[in-house]
Amino acid sequence: MKLSLDIARCVRSSSKFATCTKCVDVAPESIRIINHLPTFANNTGVEASACVGACPTEAFGLTDFSSVAFFFTFLDSKVRLISPKLNVPCLSVLSVEHLIALALASDQPITLDLSGYETQSHLWRVIVGRIEEANFILSSIGYKQLQTNTDLSNQIPNETLTQQETSFDSATSDRRTFLQNTVSLKGAIKQKMAFDEAVEAEELKVFALDESVIKKIRTKHLPDKRKLLFTTLKRTTKLDTYDVLAQTDVGFVSQKYVTDNCTNCQICYRICPTGALSSDMKFSLIHFDAMLCVKCHLCHDVCEPDAIHLQDGFELREFFESTQRTLAKFDIRRCHECGNSFTYKGGEIICPRCLTEEQEAMELHNNAKRMESKS
Ligand code: SF4
Ligand code: SF4
Ligand code: SF4
Repeated sequence: MKLSLDIARCVRSSSKFATCTKCVDVAPESIRIINHLPTFANNTGVEASACVGACPTEAFGLTDFSSVAFFFTFLDSKVRLISPKLNVPCLSVLSVEHLIALALASDQPITLDLSGYETQSHLWRVIVGRIEEANFILSSIGYKQLQTNTDLSNQIPNETLTQQETSFDSATSDRRTFLQNTVSLKGAIKQKMAFDEAVEAEELKVFALDESVIKKIRTKHLPDKRKLLFTTLKRTTKLDTYDVLAQTDVGFVSQKYVTDNCTNCQICYRICPTGALSSDMKFSLIHFDAMLCVKCHLCHDVCEPDAIHLQDGFELREFFESTQRTLAKFDIRRCHECGNSFTYKGGEIICPRCLTEEQEAMELHNNAKRMESKS
């Protein structure tokens, strides 16, 4: 089993300003950032699987292991133990989202086998940290928590292994149905779909976007782990009231706000890898879907005026009743000089480019006049 990286999904390949180091933070001995991109030795394997569970965009993977296949195989089996001796290459391959989704979807409590990990090692802390975050969220929505066991030794019976292996076929068909249903989920991704349709219809060309930008918008990708979480949450009983958690307690999703410093440069919503940030056809607003956000920080990294910020609290209501919020609205007008659309902020109806050209021309004119008066 080897480590693989789809570099196109890494947020660092989208912008030189990206600061994500989540893979390096959890697997510092295997992953390095060289020339701005994550890099690892060719023969790297399971020892770096913590980066698979950490990467917000699922850029990292392990050959011969699919977390989606595992999810359905596991739930189909009678086994409620997750163990490197049984069904996963390492517990660290599972993200907090996987853990929550598994706990929500399981009819029985799940136990995670920590017996093979050295207590207080870096890997131990990564895995236990994820379990604690998942349990904190599960308890906040009144759900049964994941259990851990540090003393399983080699006591896993053979029949358990057989049950696990034989259920793969039905898991494959369930997986297919699941992914199809998820793609058509209403609510949070409705607006994004309308946007995608406009892109497909080539309407964005009206706004002079070049082909590469349109192609990038088309390729927005919601990670499978988020689809799993989405789907399990949709099937979970809603609560009467919802807590607001500190944003520091939730590492995989966020809520945001935009300040008046925003210039509507369009970069954040064009570059957001999942489509959590989006706009309308005129680029006259910024929409945000919290449940599509994977907290990759890219939008913050690229925002030159530092106008996009994390909301202090994360509202758990978003898990059950996801909403699309409008973070900013803009007055889009056509420039009186060149006719191009631009974000109007008051005063003369002239776009920034024409205004700069006008100012430069005026400066040249004034310089020429000064020269003339001297001669
Ligand atoms: S965690 Fe993922 S997105 Fe972040 S730097 Fe590593 S590969 Fe890129
Ligand atoms: S929030 Fe920042 S990156 Fe996004 S449109 Fe506004 S200025 Fe640009
Ligand atoms: S909204 Fe920002 S942090 Fe969330 S997925 Fe998009 S770019 Fe990443």
